[in-house]
Amino acid sequence: MNEQRAREFARCAVVLAAGLPKQFHYDPTPAAPEPRLNPFDPAPSGDDLFAPAMAGREGIFDQGLSNGLAAIVASEWPGEEASKGRVLSASALLKVVQGHVTAADGVCLIPDRHPAAEISPQETTSGTGSIFNAPSRPMSRHTRVDISTLQEGIEASQLARHGRGEGGLRLRHIAALLALDGHESLGMMGEEQQDRLWGAAVREDAASRARAAEYLERIGDDEAARRAEHVENPNAYHPKRNPDGHDLDSCPVCGFEAFVVEGLVVIGDPVGYGQCLVCTYTRTSDAAENEAFADHCASIMSE
Ligand SMILES: [Zn+2]
Repeated sequence: MNEQRAREFARCAVVLAAGLPKQFHYDPTPAAPEPRLNPFDPAPSGDDLFAPAMAGREGIFDQGLSNGLAAIVASEWPGEEASKGRVLSASALLKVVQGHVTAADGVCLIPDRHPAAEISPQETTSGTGSIFNAPSRPMSRHTRVDISTLQEGIEASQLARHGRGEGGLRLRHIAALLALDGHESLGMMGEEQQDRLWGAAVREDAASRARAAEYLERIGDDEAARRAEHVENPNAYHPKRNPDGHDLDSCPVCGFEAFVVEGLVVIGDPVGYGQCLVCTYTRTSDAAENEAFADHCASIMSE
């Protein structure tokens, strides 16, 4: 049951995290390939409205919070998450937390039962820097349950959910929700984020292949062959002018040596990302990473 709650929490939290302004973007990889923007520039204001254009954000907040708190309470104080067979509301669950942990300035810190040193490296998925980065288990020894901010978030979301006005969820409400992911019973945001990116990359790649195949059919074999013959590599390697260049690769859709490689993902054998100049097939870096990873797994299994 708690595993399901944790998944549900993570699913909602990841959707909400994607709606945060770019400088607070949650990044599950410990070392992001690109330098992260300074999270304090411009200075984050927890008062800013959260993603006014995102439909249904109040419902997602509510669902994430209810599941996250139920998982935490059920894990810390088993049985207290429900009454007469029904799981308590988010507000009531906050009261349970408050009943067990003394709040200071409206914040309850639930101490970790397993200190960071005992946690395996796979679990240490926290990002760096941003105050909005969710899990901070390796650094901290407690989960921050910001009772007053979360309660305020519940009230802000109720207004919109019951047709009594605008939602008014603010950044600080989302940040308080994401902070729950640091609890031992949750901590699945990183995994969920990866699944989501992976699924999106797979869908995008399939769509790009389908578009390219359609395009190929439209221009016909003769025209495709003519183009392939005249392809010039805009990213050709040159030791001085373009030391990061690559040779053309063969395209998986049209089969011509016309795929311009912008970069490589190396997990086992390198897989290039870029675009084919004959059929327009585009492989993104995420799709290349999936492919490289899948190839690598296949080669390990066939050994
Ligand atoms: Zn092609």
